[in-house]
Amino acid sequence: MSVLRVPDPAAALRDFVARVSPYDPEPAAGPVGSVDVRTGDGVETILVTPHLARALAEALAGYRDRADRGTCASCGGRRLDENLHCADCGRLHGVLGEVIASQAERVRLGEPAGSGDAAP
Ligand SMILES: [Zn+2]
Repeated sequence: MSVLRVPDPAAALRDFVARVSPYDPEPAAGPVGSVDVRTGDGVETILVTPHLARALAEALAGYRDRADRGTCASCGGRRLDENLHCADCGRLHGVLGEVIASQAERVRLGEPAGSGDAAP
């Protein structure tokens, strides 16, 4: 069972339209298309004006997924965890990820904390 809240897509689009429509420079322009959102409650059609089309395109192009941590330099995979550890090839990325992995390896080997590369 998913613990993530799933927003109502039709409500999200209605809210977006309400936020951008006051700034439409050509409010009398006819729609250039429409978006049908099918949910358990039925179908909602949202008319897409030229201004809304530009706003949607800009918003979608600017979206970055919260789980997007870039691309693995070794294998090109996109599944980097919060420690920048590649789930596909195992490479660690970033200074913090390397330090955490190095410290974990020292603990695993039974070496004292603080020994190794970082000690002067
Ligand atoms: Zn990788």
